[in-house]
Amino acid sequence: MPRKLIEIASEIVQTQASLAPMTAADIASSLRQVFNTLHELQRAESGKIEPPHAEESAPAKALTPETSIQENRVICLECGAEMRQLTKKHLVLHGMDQKDYKKKYGFTMRTPLAAKTLTKARSKAARKRGLPQELQKYMEAKRQRKAKAKTSSKSSSPETERVKRVRSRFSPKKA
Ligand SMILES: [Zn+2]
Repeated sequence: MPRKLIEIASEIVQTQASLAPMTAADIASSLRQVFNTLHELQRAESGKIEPPHAEESAPAKALTPETSIQENRVICLECGAEMRQLTKKHLVLHGMDQKDYKKKYGFTMRTPLAAKTLTKARSKAARKRGLPQELQKYMEAKRQRKAKAKTSSKSSSPETERVKRVRSRFSPKKA
């Protein structure tokens, strides 16, 4: 039997309260927040998200692996459940994991089993996380350019071109 959300929520808040002093009001509002979040997650997991109105009036497309991954939802090709994300937990109900599912319906292993908006949001978040690294690379490149400009200011430009070519040969770019 699944545990009641309120039990899970109170456990989370108890843990929270044990880590930092909280007033009764803090606890009450945390409990409400955690409960609401859990409730939303549960709804999302069980596929009870209401489709947006625009899609409601649109004619139902034939369900194929291609059309099962939509802008705001993904449809389970085994049972027709709609959700934001086809989870491992859901696929267990059909006795398969994500690999089996992808194989069965001809998805590539890299295809995310999630609504397109969710996938987009995720890659955006990932890009954001990768930003400091990109920034470091940029700063490093800038520093090297500066250093190079100093040392090569006396050399002729064909020489610089040759050095550049040699360098690019020895440092293959990784995509
Ligand atoms: Zn299903």
